Amino acid sequence: MVVIEARNIRKSYGNLQVLHDVDLSVREGEVLGLIGPSGSGKSTLLRILDLIEPPSGGELSIFGVNTVEEYSRWLDLRRRMGMLFQRPIVFNASVYDNVAMGLRYRGTPRAEIDRRVKEALEAVGLSRYIRSRATDLSGGEQQRVALSRVLVTDPEILILDEPTANLDPGSTATIEAIVMRMNREEGMTVLISTHDLMQGQRLAHRVAVMIEGTVTQVGPPREIFYEPKDQKIARFVGVQNIIPGQVIAREGGLTTVEVKERRLVSVTPPPAEEVAVAIRGEDISLHRREPGYEEAENLFPARVTSIEPIAPFVNVTVDCGCDLVALVTARRVEALGLRAGMEVWVSLQAKAVHLIPRED
Ligand code: ADP
Repeated sequence: MVVIEARNIRKSYGNLQVLHDVDLSVREGEVLGLIGPSGSGKSTLLRILDLIEPPSGGELSIFGVNTVEEYSRWLDLRRRMGMLFQRPIVFNASVYDNVAMGLRYRGTPRAEIDRRVKEALEAVGLSRYIRSRATDLSGGEQQRVALSRVLVTDPEILILDEPTANLDPGSTATIEAIVMRMNREEGMTVLISTHDLMQGQRLAHRVAVMIEGTVTQVGPPREIFYEPKDQKIARFVGVQNIIPGQVIAREGGLTTVEVKERRLVSVTPPPAEEVAVAIRGEDISLHRREPGYEEAENLFPARVTSIEPIAPFVNVTVDCGCDLVALVTARRVEALGLRAGMEVWVSLQAKAVHLIPRED
C-alpha cells in the first residue's frame, strides 16, 4: 500500500522555484532514502510531505487522503506522522518534560503519558537521563531526546531530515540502529533524507535521488549506484569514470562502444548512438600480467599514469587508449608493486560498463 503519493509537486519561494514536478511514492513499511546534493530541495520536499508547508502546485495524498481537497483533515494526518530535523530541538527543561510535551498537547491522561515517556526513552537508550536537563546533554543525546519525542506519539510514518548530519560516527550509528529497529519491529514507514551516500545505501530499501529540485531516479540502492540513469546522478553517486563514447555494434546482448582509442563491451542496451560510459572505479581490476582465468569480457593491457592515495583507497589512473581510474586498496597497490609508467592488465566485466545518454 502506498502511504504517501506525491505528483507534480512544485514549490517556489518568490521567484525562486525550488521544486519542479516532483513525483514520489512511499510504500507502507519501507525505508525510503532521499539522497541528493545540498540545496537540491530535500528538506523542502520533506516539509511539504509532513504537511508543515503547502506545495505551490501538484497533488499530494497521504494515507489515501487528498490533502488539497480535504485540507480540513490536515491535523488528523499530521498526527499520524512524526518528523525529526537535522538540528535537535530540545527545550530548557527535563528530558522527561521534553518527551512528554507532544502527549500533553494532545490531552493524553497523565498515567499514560508517564508510561509512554518511559517507554520512548527506553527505546532510545536514555532512561538514565530522565531527570536531566535536556540542554545539558551532548549533541548526539539531544538528538535522541528529539527522536524520543517523535516516537512517543507512535507515528505511522517517521520522516527524518538529515538526522545525523551534525553527529559523530558513534551517535550516528545509534540513531540509525533505533530507526531501523522501529522499522523492523513496529513496521514504521521511514522516509530519511541524507547527503551521505553510504547512509542511504546502508539503511534504505529504496533510494530516491533528488537533483536540482526534482526526483530523477527511484530504485533499490544497487540500481542507483550501479545503474544511474544519467550523468548527473552518476556523478552524485560517485562514479569515477564517466566518459563519452560512440556505439559501434550491438550483437548477442552486448554493446560495443568506442571510447577514444579503446573498445569496451557493455551489457546495457544503447540509449543512443552517442553515449557516456559510466564505470565505477572499484569494478576495474588491475593485474601484473595477462590473467588466464578471468571471465571478464573486457581484458586489455594498459600503462599506469598516476597513483593518488585517497585513504583508505588509492585512485590508480591507467591509459588503455582512454584513461580509466581504478579504485584499489592500498594493500593491493603494494602487492602489485604499482608505480607510474608500469605496464599492467585491466579486466572489466561487461556488466560493469554502464551506458547512459551523453549530456550536451
Ligand atoms: P536540501 O535539503 O537538499 O539541502 P533545501 O530544500 O534546504 O535543500 O533547499 C533547496 C533550495 O531552496 C535552496 O536553494 C534554498 O536556499 C531554498 N530554500 C529553502 N527554503 C527556503 C525558504 N523558506 N525561502 C527561500 N528559499 C528557500
